[in-house]
Amino acid sequence: MLHKRTITELRTGLQKGEFSAEELTLYYLERIEGNARELNAYITVTADIAMEQARRSDRDRGKGVAGPLSGIPIAYKDIFCTEGVRTSAGSLMLDKFIAPYSATVVEKLSGAGAVMLGKTNMDEFAMGSSNENSHYGHVLNPWDKERVPGGSSGGSAAAVAAGLCAAATGTDTGGSIRQPASFCGVTGIKPTYGRISRWGIIAYASSLDQAGPITRTAEDAALMLQVMAGHDAKDSTSIATEVPDYTRTLGDSIKGQRIGLCREYFEEGLDGATEKIIMEAVAVLESLGAIISEVTLPNTRHAIPAYYIIAPAECSANLSRYDGVRYGYRCENPTDLQDLYKRSRSEALGEEVKQRILVGTFVLSAGYYDAYYRKAQQVRRLIKNDFVEAFKEVDILLSPTAPAPAFRIGEKSGDQIAMYLQDIYTIASNLAGLPAISIPAGMNGQLPTGLQLIGNYLDEARLLNVAHQFQLQTNWHRLSPPEGGP
Ligand code: GLN
Repeated sequence: MLHKRTITELRTGLQKGEFSAEELTLYYLERIEGNARELNAYITVTADIAMEQARRSDRDRGKGVAGPLSGIPIAYKDIFCTEGVRTSAGSLMLDKFIAPYSATVVEKLSGAGAVMLGKTNMDEFAMGSSNENSHYGHVLNPWDKERVPGGSSGGSAAAVAAGLCAAATGTDTGGSIRQPASFCGVTGIKPTYGRISRWGIIAYASSLDQAGPITRTAEDAALMLQVMAGHDAKDSTSIATEVPDYTRTLGDSIKGQRIGLCREYFEEGLDGATEKIIMEAVAVLESLGAIISEVTLPNTRHAIPAYYIIAPAECSANLSRYDGVRYGYRCENPTDLQDLYKRSRSEALGEEVKQRILVGTFVLSAGYYDAYYRKAQQVRRLIKNDFVEAFKEVDILLSPTAPAPAFRIGEKSGDQIAMYLQDIYTIASNLAGLPAISIPAGMNGQLPTGLQLIGNYLDEARLLNVAHQFQLQTNWHRLSPPEGGP
């Protein structure tokens, strides 16, 4: 049952020589062969690279120079550039794109000894909440294979939940780490904007995108974040402050931590069973000495509309590089340059992506810029100010991660608004740039349900501490989906 072990437990096993990194990697690769095909969690499996890295890890351990993640088999969302390996972003546009370099995050994790098992499935260019927008087909939720795993980092969350890697990376522009973590019963943290370098991560909406780990436990998230975080000269938006030791404070008591329930996040649209689960979790935190109160974020209802102007605006600019000329897909026999642009983009981009490019171009165009884009930026500031006010009263904000558990494949495909509302509790922290974590908080029938904690800027350590203390009291993060079941 190696696949149920946490990174911490695997590290102990490796250190004690219970198994080698090579054995562990082989074990995971076999599981992927057996399981991943059905779940469709991986776009690319990099078995050769994995075996080579595992052997190197064993040699390093023999020499006494093993890094903090030495021999730990992980997967990367297919939006992280990996040198010499296809990096598709879930799009036909990049189906044949072999990254010429690796993202800073990948360099750091490999440098720490992590073993790359492969690249996980995702919504095209990270646009989606269900993984139904991938060129490589949808991913199944391991808890119920008729349901979605969430998105856009659905492949990563499904892979961690199903024991097809020990941990994975994700990116979160409006909820794409936390919502799939919630749907798949795993832990996912989106750090403060700028805490992790975006260099080498394919851009969706640059002022919102942030990478983070998806893991089984908060402790594992701390270990991953420790390696992933930090300033990078190649990303001018990365924050140049010291990375604290995230594991050092995990064991601290949470007595006296002030936790605010966001009133607006418990109003209409929240599923009753989800609310009950969250309130039970609140009681656990209270029993640990947390002080619970209610806070208000009055501009909450404007978060989704503002996001769906800002994110498309930025994506329309970012995706203009896929023009059929420089790299990526090129149509056959173009008649002239216009035809080349038009057909390359029309043929290789999916519907959702095209719609967003259209919306983005529209809201940025002369005559509409002030009415839409500028207005959305002003609303963004109001949303940020709500948080500034709230954090004068409390240390952490608490809410459900998503309004309901994983929905059925196809259930919301015809209803874009219903799909966009998936991120109603996650999007505001992206607009404000705040860190937030989702942890398993209970089961809604057979389906996992996540709890979200939002922290103040650079307060990841506090989020991880509270999440870890919660996980010491509960077992939700220890549950695994039925193998081969329905
Ligand atoms: N679901 C949101 C969107 O489609 C968020 C996606 C994300 O965080 N990458 O844009």
